[in-house]
Amino acid sequence: MKNCGNCGIGNKREDGTIECVKYKKIKNALDNSENCLYYTVFKFEDGELMNPLQHLLLKEQDLKSKHMKNTI
Ligand code: SF4
Repeated sequence: MKNCGNCGIGNKREDGTIECVKYKKIKNALDNSENCLYYTVFKFEDGELMNPLQHLLLKEQDLKSKHMKNTI
């Protein structure tokens, strides 16, 4: 199930909550994210987990290119 706890754009905090780098909100790890446009599965680069900002940048590029395809 998609939730903020397994979204690459979420930054895990010490108390177990998730700071969403996109929406600048504190979320619970188990918050349902089925309808979140920005939900992103974890991505790795050279075996290292990318940080939330990198995930966000990739997602924004991805959404932009999809949008471009739809407008052509
Ligand atoms: S982008 Fe969406 S799914 Fe990811 S942490 Fe933020 S609110 Fe949760």
